[in-house]
Parts: sequence; structure tokens; C-alpha cells
Amino acid sequence: MSTDGVNNNGELKLFEKQERIYPKRVSGRYRNLKWIAMIACLAVYYLAPFIRWDRGPNAPDQAILIDLAKGRAYWFWFEIWPQEVYILTGVLIFSAILLFFVTSLFGRVWCGYLCFQTVWTDLYVWVERIIQGDRNQRKKLREGPWTWEKIYKLIITHFLWLVIAWCTAGSFVLYFNDAPTLVRSFFEFDVNPKVLMVIAGLTFSTYLMAGFAREQVCTYMCPYARFQSAMFDKDTLIIGYDTERGEPRGKHKKGDSWDGRGHCIDCTACVQVCPTGIDIRDGLQMECIACGLCIDACDGIMDKLELPRGLIRYDTEKRLDAKKEGREEKLHILRPRTYYYAVVLAVVGSLMLYALLNRAPLQLTVLHDRNPLFVQLSDGDIRNGYNIKILNKTHEHRHYALSVDGLDGAVMTIKSAGQVEADDIYVEADTVAHYHVFIQAPVKPGKPREIAFSLKDTSDDTIYDEYESMFITRKAN
Ligand code: SF4
Ligand code: SF4
Repeated sequence: MSTDGVNNNGELKLFEKQERIYPKRVSGRYRNLKWIAMIACLAVYYLAPFIRWDRGPNAPDQAILIDLAKGRAYWFWFEIWPQEVYILTGVLIFSAILLFFVTSLFGRVWCGYLCFQTVWTDLYVWVERIIQGDRNQRKKLREGPWTWEKIYKLIITHFLWLVIAWCTAGSFVLYFNDAPTLVRSFFEFDVNPKVLMVIAGLTFSTYLMAGFAREQVCTYMCPYARFQSAMFDKDTLIIGYDTERGEPRGKHKKGDSWDGRGHCIDCTACVQVCPTGIDIRDGLQMECIACGLCIDACDGIMDKLELPRGLIRYDTEKRLDAKKEGREEKLHILRPRTYYYAVVLAVVGSLMLYALLNRAPLQLTVLHDRNPLFVQLSDGDIRNGYNIKILNKTHEHRHYALSVDGLDGAVMTIKSAGQVEADDIYVEADTVAHYHVFIQAPVKPGKPREIAFSLKDTSDDTIYDEYESMFITRKAN
């Protein structure tokens, strides 16, 4: 179909039917690398929730856990509270810059080897291939009439896809719950309906994305494919077809001379193995996820023809262009752009590490009452109210002493259901305590006074926090 939407019969068509792609099996270096990456990613994803991590008596022992009920995220040594969400922002920024850095060096290797869409699609295609056969058998089966063989093979394929999707969704929710407890509750048919609904939704989306949408996610849905060109330059490693060496292409019979012709025998093996269905001989395309499978396919053909490998290879645009002009160009892996990304990565990484390693075990926040701003008592003293929040981020129950500086003769009282003294405030491990505090002082109405609240751990001088606030004595003019 042409770009103006008119097909070969002259009819106006606004949508073109997506042709199904049947990637052919291939073996070689990059395929092996993809198997290793796939097994490693799946093993980490499915097993990580079961890793235990001893944090002491008042904390969960799951190494990676997002506890939505308590508002905590745990990752081995690190624990993040909602107040520290800036750390998660830092992680996202760090990950984005790391992606830019890797892309500027090696192109879209993330897409080709590690992206969850690639990994799960690979797994689904592997299952499909085991049940239905390789490319030609799958194509024949899919396009052929409905027979018992077609029906049972499709049922088994879709059943296995759904089992994988269900395990994937089930593993996802394990990151938000104590994994062994949740697994046990599955066997006891005692799972929260909300959890089941999340699993059902994720099962469906995994089945849809890896079983049906596949390469269309990379081509049409993923924003990364669209803006990756901003990270590319002529020294970025891409999958390139050596036109100098390959053209003019054509069929070749054993014993024929190679003189006056290229090494590409137009066998289309590189196209048949491509998971996105493109022909890399047409040049670098947005759909190419840099998986390297076309390299394996072509290297296999070159081996059979007893020609050197590398007609399709990881190379840079600059080197391929230079070859066309009969020049040799060096590989420039390290260049200003990569240094720039490396420096930004180091800065962001160091800041994050500093923030995590120097995380305060105690946090005090104070909010002045809005209404009334102050009260003048019958004895002439002025009283202000404050809402204070004490975050005990340790895994032990603690006692704290709260005091206020900057106001002579100030008296502090804490409003609470029980008796709470300012010099002995008890806060349970890993919790937030809320109190309403009154400060009363014999001061004359005038400008607001600057005051500072101090909170100290009664058993450890090194654990303390301060918060600056105001003491208001009259209405603003
Ligand atoms: S696999 Fe190699 S030889 Fe075969 S069509 Fe592709 S580039 Fe040409
Ligand atoms: S062109 Fe080659 S590297 Fe690119 S997606 Fe297809 S098989 Fe993978």
C-alpha cells in the first residue's frame, strides 16, 4: 500500500492488515546470547520474591518487597518510605541515563536482549515452535484449513501461553506480598479477590502482548523506538548490511564464480529469522531491535558458502560508509557523547548512593495550626498549636524527647488520648506517630518568632532531628 492510503487496486484503505510474522529458528552466537539473557531474566523475575533477607524482628524478611499497606519499599539493604519517594525518582533518572549510555554505545541492545517484551515474546515463540513446528509448518498450519491437528495444536499452544501468562502475573503480585504466604494461600484457595483480579488483568495483558501484539509493541507502542535516534550518532553500533560486499546480490550455484557479483545470494534467511519481519539489507530501520539473529542466519550461510562471516554485522554507520568509499575507519566506542553520559551517570549514582547510605533513622515534621493561628489566654500568655509527625524508621521501638528553642518561658503540652510527656514520647518500630502539641509562652503580641523543635532519641544521642517553625503572636495586618 502506498503512503497516501491507496492500495494496489486503487481502493482507499486507511488501515493495512498486519501480516503475521513467523520467525524461523536460528542458531549462532547471538541466539545463544539471547537464550542466556532470556533464562537469566526469567529466573530473576520468577525467583526474586522468594529471596529472604533478615532485617530484624519488626520488619519483613523478603529481600524485594513493595508493601502498599504500610507504604514501604524494600530492596535488600535499602528501605524507602513514601517521604523518600525522591529516591525512586533518582532510580528512574539513573535507569534512563544508563539506557541512553548503553544505546549510545551499542544501539538498541536493551530491546534485543533484555526488554520484557522481547524476553516474553521469545518465550512464547519458543513454545509455539515446540508445539507447531518451525516457520514453514507454523505458517502452513495457521493458513491451512481447520483440521483436528490444527485445533489440538492451537489449543495446546494457547493453553501453555495462558499458563505462562498466569505464572508471570502471579509472580508480579508476589513482589507486593509475602511470597511464601501468598503461594500457600493459593493452594488453600484463600486468596483475596482483589489480588485475583490483578492477576487476571495481568494474565490477559501478558497473553495479549507476547502472544499477539509481539513486534507491534516495539514498532507502534514503545516510545523508546521513536526517540532512540536522538541517542544515535554515526559511531553507534548498529546492525548493518555490508552493501559493498553483498551487492549486486543474486542466486548462486555451487562452483559459480564470485567475480563481478556480491556475496549476498538473496536466500532471505536474514529476513526469515527476523522477529520484526524486516529486511536489514534495506538499511537501518526503526523496527530493528538489534537482536543480531540476522547476523547468525547470514553467518551460517557464509559458512556454507565458505566465505568470510560478517556480511551482516554489528558495525557503525561511519565505518560502513567509509568502506563504500574504499577507506578504513576505526571503531570509536568512547567519544564525547559517551563521556558525557558516563559523567552524568556517575554524578546521579553518587548522589543516590549518598542519599541511601545517609538515610536518617528519625524524621520530624511540624505543621503549624491554620485556624486559629494563635490564642491569647486569660493570663495574657499566647498559645500556638502544631501537628507533629515522628517517623521512627528503625526496626526497634524507641523513646524520644521533644523540646522547643527560641522562646523564653515556653511550656509544651502534648494532646493525646493517654498521658504523653514531651521528654518521653514512645514510637513503635517502623511507624509514624502523630501528635497535637501546644506551645504556651508569656510573650507580647508582635512579630512572629522563629522557633525550632528538636527531637532526640533518649537512648542514642546520635539520633536526632530538628524542624524550624514560627510562633505567631498577633494577626497579620
Ligand atoms: S542471509 Fe545473508 S546471503 Fe542470505 S539474503 Fe540475507 S544477507 Fe543475503
Ligand atoms: S534486522 Fe536483524 S537485528 Fe534487526 S530485528 Fe531483525 S533480526 Fe534482529
